[in-house]
Amino acid sequence: MNTGIMNRTQITEKLSLSDPASLTALYTEAQAIKTATIGNRVYLRGLIEFSNICSKNCYYCGIRRDNQSVNRYELSDEEVLAAVDFAWKNRYGSVVLQSGERQSAHFTRRITRLLHNIKRFTNNEIGITLSCGEQTSATYREWFKAGAHRYLLRIETSDRELYYKLHPDDKKHSFDARLAAIRQLRAEGYQVGTGVMIGLPFQTIEHLADDLLFFQMMNVDMVGMGPYLEHSQTPLYQYDHLLLPPNKRLTLALSMVATLRLLMPDINIAATTALQVLHPEGREMAVMAGANIIMPNITLPEFRPEYRIYDLKPGINDDVALSKLKLEQNLRTAGIAIGYSEWGDSKRFFSRKRTH
Ligand code: SF4
Repeated sequence: MNTGIMNRTQITEKLSLSDPASLTALYTEAQAIKTATIGNRVYLRGLIEFSNICSKNCYYCGIRRDNQSVNRYELSDEEVLAAVDFAWKNRYGSVVLQSGERQSAHFTRRITRLLHNIKRFTNNEIGITLSCGEQTSATYREWFKAGAHRYLLRIETSDRELYYKLHPDDKKHSFDARLAAIRQLRAEGYQVGTGVMIGLPFQTIEHLADDLLFFQMMNVDMVGMGPYLEHSQTPLYQYDHLLLPPNKRLTLALSMVATLRLLMPDINIAATTALQVLHPEGREMAVMAGANIIMPNITLPEFRPEYRIYDLKPGINDDVALSKLKLEQNLRTAGIAIGYSEWGDSKRFFSRKRTH
């Protein structure tokens, strides 16, 4: 197969596969291309959900601003550093600092201070990804200088019309601003990641094919995408009856991962936590279909129930150390090695830089 080149029809065909033999062939091909291009290792990023305070109102999200039943929290610097310490001591190469979206001088300064502290505390050994929503270019620059080098900003869908079925149509939730933010992050020097939800109400296979072509057109370094999971306290929940059954959403998500690997062999692709909701070993299945990043949640267990973007979040009460052992065991059984203490940066980022 000619990797990297597929048209919309060919992608749609891949995403429509349903018989087990064809699906296995797709996943095996993606896995082989990953191994040949970037190796067979998986990199761990310890996910720290440091605050669920958010100024936005995305229709699908359980921690949206208007959901009054959420207890809002913000971890102290000491609590964040304790989670970083766990990641560092357990040889996770990186952490991801994730929060709701807030734009204020106080928030910007707080993250800058945290980044400096994390870098100092770990002797610059831990890689840092940020996932804190849309900010100004100056803020991206400040955080980059303070030590963050990857940024995740999911577009959620690359289709403008569908985007506004998922977000209010106002200045705060602008599709164009989201696109511009992805470009700004690139200009500030970050490895840039984006992603989409799979199996949304109103979403077609053609939308998903276009999402994959969008990642390619934007030449992103990383993608994190997973099945859409509903939350009962959100406006989108009223369309629950339009959803594919969970097993179909899982298959579609795995096919998206595998097809993306064929299209973009040298990027980082995350096996997202949402997959784990639909199958206890969903993340491992995604790794066997071409993903190479896993982001285990290392947020203190007492805060995890409050960062519930969707219902049925897995591992809410899990002991962090025990989940780590189980994940390692599962990966070992599947013949996948873990890149301990490695940043596992996107290979595409460096080849892109060389050609500019
Ligand atoms: S998806 Fe992100 S920006 Fe939107 S409401 Fe949820 S936390 Fe806020």
